[in-house]
Amino acid sequence: MSADALLARLEGVREVSGGWRAECPVGHKSRQTVSVSESANGAVLVHCFACGNGDDVLRPLGLSWSDLFPKSARELTPQEQRLWREQRRVAGWAAALRVLDSEAAVLFAAAADLVAGLPLSDEDQARLREAAARIAAAREMLA
Ligand SMILES: [Zn+2]
Repeated sequence: MSADALLARLEGVREVSGGWRAECPVGHKSRQTVSVSESANGAVLVHCFACGNGDDVLRPLGLSWSDLFPKSARELTPQEQRLWREQRRVAGWAAALRVLDSEAAVLFAAAADLVAGLPLSDEDQARLREAAARIAAAREMLA
């Protein structure tokens, strides 16, 4: 299955550097918690930062990890299986770093307002809480 075929089953798809973000089919308060990317060998990598894995994204869609690999899992050599597991881990780290990068920008903006003596609106405070939740999920991914 291609990344496009998976993305067609997800809502709220947005292209980002290195892949896509989408809504989790499980449903979370934070939006676009799902990261989708494609590895060099054509395998599709998926991870939800709220669920903490990709399995909870695939299950409601009736998919499994073997559907996301160009060959069926049974046909993979042990070396290909190891490579794919490693790619899934690296893709998770890359997605976590992108989250840290974008959420750091939110924190810097809030810090600049506070340093300038400007109060944070209720909306800003809510966004800060969301940033904290996203950063916590990304840190867990990197731990
Ligand atoms: Zn999720």
